[in-house]
Formats: sequence, C-alpha cells, structure tokens
Amino acid sequence: MSNKAATSTASQPSTWTGYVTATTLNVRSAPSTTARILTQIGSGTAVTVQGKDGSWMKVYIPSKKVTGWVHSDYISDKSSASAQVVLLHNTNLRRGPGTSYGIISVEPAGTSLTKIGQSNDWIQVRRKDGVTGWVAGWLVGSAQSSPLKGKTVVLDPGHGGIDGGASGRLYVEKRLNLSTALKLGSLLQQAGAKVIYTRSSDIYVSLNQRVAISNQSNADAFISIHYNSCTGVCSGIETFYYSMSKDSVLARSIQNNLIKSTQLRDRGTKYGAYRIIRNNQRPAALVELGFLTNPTEERLIGSISHQKKAAQGIYNGLVEYLK
Ligand SMILES: [Zn+2]
Repeated sequence: MSNKAATSTASQPSTWTGYVTATTLNVRSAPSTTARILTQIGSGTAVTVQGKDGSWMKVYIPSKKVTGWVHSDYISDKSSASAQVVLLHNTNLRRGPGTSYGIISVEPAGTSLTKIGQSNDWIQVRRKDGVTGWVAGWLVGSAQSSPLKGKTVVLDPGHGGIDGGASGRLYVEKRLNLSTALKLGSLLQQAGAKVIYTRSSDIYVSLNQRVAISNQSNADAFISIHYNSCTGVCSGIETFYYSMSKDSVLARSIQNNLIKSTQLRDRGTKYGAYRIIRNNQRPAALVELGFLTNPTEERLIGSISHQKKAAQGIYNGLVEYLK
C-alpha cells in the first residue's frame, strides 16, 4: 500500500529532511528498480535528502545509518505534506487504509496526530511516539475544522482551598475535581478551544466569582465538575441543569457521553437550582462524576483512568453539543 505525494523541488536547500509516505519503501543501491535493495523503511521515517537523479532521490537514513536511493514519489517534505489532524471521536488506529486491517490501538477523541499520507477516505497518521497507522478520514478534523475551534469553554472544578467538598475514605473531592478538569481542559485546547478555569490550583473561589467568570467570558459552555456523596448506598453519574431551554440539551449530551465513556450507572439528567448554574447566563451544566461515599466506586473514581474517561466523556458531549 502506498501513496503518492507531490514533492516540491523549488526552493529546497541542497539537503533537506524528507518523510516516507509509502507504507514500505525500498532503499536501493542505485537509482533504478533493478538495483539491489539495501533495506526497507516504513512510512513516516525521516531521511536526509542529499541529491536527485530523475525520479530518484539519494537519501541518508539516520535511523539505519544507510545511504541509498528511493523513488521520489514516496518522499515528501514535512512542511508541505504534514498537518496536524484532531480526532473528533474515539477512533481505531489501523494497520492499513480500511476496516479490514487490524487495530493497533484506540485513540481517544481530541488526540492530535500528524498526517503523513492519504488513501481515498483514509488518512495515514503518526502518533507523538512515532507509531504510524491509518484512521478513517470521516472521523478526523483538522484543528481548523474541529467544532471546538474558536469556542470558549469555562471549566469549574468545584470547591478548593478551605472548601474540600465531599470526602470518602481515600480522596477529597476538590482534588479529583481539579485533576479531571485539567485533563478535560487539555483535550479541549488540543482541539482548538479556548479554556478558562475558575481555578487551576487548590485555591478557594466563591460561587459568585465563578459565575462572574462565566458571564464575563461569553462562554459557549460552562461545566462545573464535582464528585458526589450521599448518606445511603449510592452509585453512578448524574448531570444537573437549571434552565430547560438554555442548559438541558448541553446536560443531556454530556450525561449520555459520560455514561458511554465511563460505563458507570446512569442516574440521568436532573433539574438543580445550584447557584453556580442558576445565576449563570451561559449554557451551563454541573456534573457529578461518581460517589466518594461508596467505597467500591471511590476506588474506581480516584483512579487516573476513570478521570481520563470522565474527561473524555465530557469532551465528547461538548463536541456533540457545539457542532
Ligand atoms: Zn461538590
């Protein structure tokens, strides 16, 4: 499987760094298909282009310490061919351009990848760790086309400072709220959103201050992040709205995606007259991401993996709501 990428020859310096766009590319001893194959290199491999002879390029491959010749159709300069793409949904990274190819990994929505090639509707990408694979083009946006691009989201990690919020046997709510909010914020920023935190450290911020930040920012969405408590045995996730017309669609979208992402019990969306959403002029929702007072659930929600899933669920809900 290979892809042809246009290679610009104008204004390139005598040696430059190119990237392999073919899945596998033969490196030959001379500029001819009959020449001996010295080695093979995979897509995304960086090469130093040292010269050109017809449609062949002389390249040095630093990772293999080999110099040889490759067909120029399969080398592109990064500046023209590579672009960051952002996953709009959780997406399978596959070994080839089609659903019949094996899955390398599931990449979460919001992940940025470097585009290194294309085959019909499929996009070849490189992860930050260098692993390459293919994703379906219809699940991908450029940072420019993401529904979150240019949107403002206010994240409100509940409590903080002297106000710890709920606590279980192991965790205090304020810390989990902040940790989850920061994970969500980085997903949103990667997708081009402007993120405003009502707090980004362990400080006390009054409810009125938090509401004022939302109202002044003209935010597209305001999310207050909490973990829950009760006196009996409770479990699951719930999302509160105040205004049926302004907030409930946002709340529903977030709640649905939180349940999909975390697989915790669905307590649904509920009307709640909390000041943080009641006095909020922007579309606002308050999430309760699991019960600290339930020892089994507390162990789960205290884990980084739950907080990532929760952040991912809220992110997916925002994408659905804002697109
Ligand atoms: Zn709380």
